[in-house]
Amino acid sequence: MVECPIPEGFDARRVRPSLEAAFKKLGYSGPVSITAYGDQTQTSVDLLRCLSSTGVAVVHTRSDSTCAHMYSDMVEWRGHNPPPATMMIISNQVNDVLSWDLTRLQQRTRYNLFLAYSIESPMSSLSPSIEWLFEKFLGYADENDWHIQYELSSAMLYYCKSCNFDAQSPQDFRKHLSGSKHGERDIDPTTSTEVHYVTKMWGRNYPATPEYATAKIVVWWDMFDCPIPEGYDARRVRPSLEAAFKNLGYSGPVSITAFGDLKHIPDHLLRGLSSTGVDVAHTLKACRQQRMLIDLEDWWLESNPPPATIMVITDGHHFDEIFSICLARRLQKHKHNLFMAYSCRPWKMSFLLTSAEWLWESLLAVSDTRRHFLHRCSESESDRAAVFYCKMCFFDCDCEYPDYKNLDDFRTHLSSEKHAEVEYRFTGTFGPFQNNSKELKRSHSAQYDPEAKRLREATKSKPMRKPFRTGFSLLDNHLRRKFQTCKNE
Ligand SMILES: [Zn+2]
Ligand SMILES: [Zn+2]
Repeated sequence: MVECPIPEGFDARRVRPSLEAAFKKLGYSGPVSITAYGDQTQTSVDLLRCLSSTGVAVVHTRSDSTCAHMYSDMVEWRGHNPPPATMMIISNQVNDVLSWDLTRLQQRTRYNLFLAYSIESPMSSLSPSIEWLFEKFLGYADENDWHIQYELSSAMLYYCKSCNFDAQSPQDFRKHLSGSKHGERDIDPTTSTEVHYVTKMWGRNYPATPEYATAKIVVWWDMFDCPIPEGYDARRVRPSLEAAFKNLGYSGPVSITAFGDLKHIPDHLLRGLSSTGVDVAHTLKACRQQRMLIDLEDWWLESNPPPATIMVITDGHHFDEIFSICLARRLQKHKHNLFMAYSCRPWKMSFLLTSAEWLWESLLAVSDTRRHFLHRCSESESDRAAVFYCKMCFFDCDCEYPDYKNLDDFRTHLSSEKHAEVEYRFTGTFGPFQNNSKELKRSHSAQYDPEAKRLREATKSKPMRKPFRTGFSLLDNHLRRKFQTCKNE
């Protein structure tokens, strides 16, 4: 009530009818309960009476703990009222203070959510059905609406959170709030004013529930941040992932798309991936999360209803915020499971609610034993011929990304002038590509050159150069500058 107060001159008896009229206009006609929070020490008896006459409960909280009390009451309400139900929060604190935990709660148990505030805020991870300016909300009732006589429930109408005291009349409430006992408790410095985030202690790896145990798993893998480690057989990636999923009870078909700058990834790795049914998509580093997101959005649009598990393999520290927000908002709308794997543990817990998390390197170690080596778990996906996509070009193939079944044809595309032009638009230069393509040509041909093979065998014990990083930093720096443009495209 402090941040979103009743405007001056506005009859407090119109608050409930206005909200109800607005809900009705949106097609909601269920029973509405309203609680108004805030420091009520200055609220007049008249205003209290007006609110209570329409069945609005009034709660006194210290200003610095209003948000915490509202939130804990809301969590308690969720515990007693299973969906479907609509909850509405009228506060300016939702995005800054409440959205992290509420986003996670909503991914587990979704309620229809309405938000209203007096100050508009930027898009957050929460996915409400309606967002409104509080004042606009209040304009919905006409005179007929606000003279309705409400049947008041016997539930308490006035409550002091500082003292856990409830009053039945505005006079009693006022008397309590101006009393010395209340005064002492209201300024108690030991009272916690922090919002209690209930999802903070939730575990990270859950065994599969029956509906997800055999459901499909779709993996988006960022190879820039989570590359195939040096010396690791690319054919082991799929069995490693599938073995890790199986350990948690997930045995559904797995489809994997790996996003990387394929000009810098040697043929034997690409062939290794595609031979195990892993699709490979070419993109530049600066655009990879955007391209992954577009793919994810397409997947959602292509009618993939739950149950299904989505997995994202990427960097734990620099996971793009827009990507996370879009993903979180989608996951609140659709009940999909989420797995994540990171190159390093994130600095802070994400608002994305996962059913399982791994470190990339430990995930790859799952199939370390011979037993899993080249074992195929999801036959239907891994037997399917893998596809090489160019996610940079969008000019042919009827508004689709060019795709190839054959690696040589794909390489021809990547070295074509048309493709180079598209990349040039992102990087503004041909330079690094030309240098690297020469180097790569050497490394590609080396795999089929017996002399080079012998040389490789002889130098096997020596430290090898990193497969994807060579000559990359120059390009990286350049693309990093372009990142913003690409992201806002
Ligand atoms: Zn009190
Ligand atoms: Zn291309």
